[in-house]
Amino acid sequence: RPTVVVAGAGQAGTQTAASLREFGFDGNIVLVGDEPHLPYQRPPLSKGHITGKAARDTLWLHPATFYDHHEIDRYIPDRVRTIERAAGRVELASGTTLGYDHLVLALGARNRTLPLDGADLDGVVGLRTLAEADDLRERLARARNVVVVGGGFIGLEVAAAAVALGLRTVVIEVADRLMGRVLSPPMADFLLDAHRARGLQVELGTTVERITGTSGRVTAVATADGRKFPADVVLVGIGALPNTELAEAAGLPIANGIVVDQFLRTADPRISAVGDCASCPNPFAGGRRIRLESVHNATAQPRALAARIVGRPEPYHSVPWFWSDQSDMKLQIAGLTTATSEFVFRGDPGSGRFSIFCFDDGRLQSVESLSRPGDHMAARKLLAIEDCLSPEQAADAEFDLRTHLS
Ligand code: FAD
Repeated sequence: RPTVVVAGAGQAGTQTAASLREFGFDGNIVLVGDEPHLPYQRPPLSKGHITGKAARDTLWLHPATFYDHHEIDRYIPDRVRTIERAAGRVELASGTTLGYDHLVLALGARNRTLPLDGADLDGVVGLRTLAEADDLRERLARARNVVVVGGGFIGLEVAAAAVALGLRTVVIEVADRLMGRVLSPPMADFLLDAHRARGLQVELGTTVERITGTSGRVTAVATADGRKFPADVVLVGIGALPNTELAEAAGLPIANGIVVDQFLRTADPRISAVGDCASCPNPFAGGRRIRLESVHNATAQPRALAARIVGRPEPYHSVPWFWSDQSDMKLQIAGLTTATSEFVFRGDPGSGRFSIFCFDDGRLQSVESLSRPGDHMAARKLLAIEDCLSPEQAADAEFDLRTHLS
């Protein structure tokens, strides 16, 4: 029986194992993960896990019985230490060696850290793992002042949760708008106002200079403009770096992620990469190679890969989508907003329920919806079709997206 070894037991690794079985793969599947838990979902960690709304049991991707039932062998916790490509085997930190016919790298990403004085003080934390989320929840329960460095999705979700817990919370963002890389300017502006109206202090265009403390514990964040923000907890949410070292050491090409083709193959036909660590050509980025950090990507890529492994290859071209819950606001994004210049509103921003249809050169690129799940679902279908919608149609409130699709 052929053996597929999956390195990394997060969203993408676990999905690879599950999809292989779903698609009828009857060889051996071995899942290796270095975290000491059952594979779990990360999104609740910056949302309900902090406020106590997400019960621990709801975090697991599957119950333990799922893996036994589907004959998925687990080496958890253990870590893939080296890949020996010529021999077709990996060595684990425990010393075990595992032979493979196909190796899947689903190694995820890790948080960027602040290269500043005071960044190693007690109370300066990041958020990626369940262990870090448990630690953050405990710290917030004892805190009064929270500073979040970075106005991206994770930072804003945590900041909104901290405000909901009644904590004095400040977000410090170096750019002149929130979520600058991935959101249209009008939606970023709306969310800025909405967060401020809910009691969050947001400082844009502000650089953190150093973090100060006493007796090894953080007490404040100092900014380059000479201000000092008191802090018992500092959450650093300044983005992530792909875990590429293992692939690099094995001689595989790296370019902001492990380089794969549209079939998720690395330069070695026996090794594939999926999820946060993979840099993949994407038709929604004009065919450019990009790395996406989203549950959708970490689910759809493994499904495409598993289909290829069982002999049904198809290029990966799934419409990207993402969600973020911030306070009572449910943001959903379909497509990629990066190159957009024309913004068409549907719904009334005053009601807090609206969508922004983002076009570039008359072509729909993305749809950002706030508490309008119907628009989001329609957008995911629309974006899969060439020339699906004109700006005029999007602007016409009478124009029914669902009828248009049928
Ligand atoms: P991961 O889930 O990170 O899994 C990779 C695993 O591999 C990790 O467990 C890692 O420890 C392990 N590993 C690394 N190296 C080795 C090795 N050598 N051997 C063995 N194991 C190894 N996305 C959304 O769409 N919506 C959201 O609301 C959202 N919220 C998020 C909130 C937080 C706090 C975080 C951190 C992410 C969020 N995401 C969200 C992103 C989403 O969770 C990730 O895109 C997804 O988890 C990526 O899956 P992955 O399997 O590629 O990586």
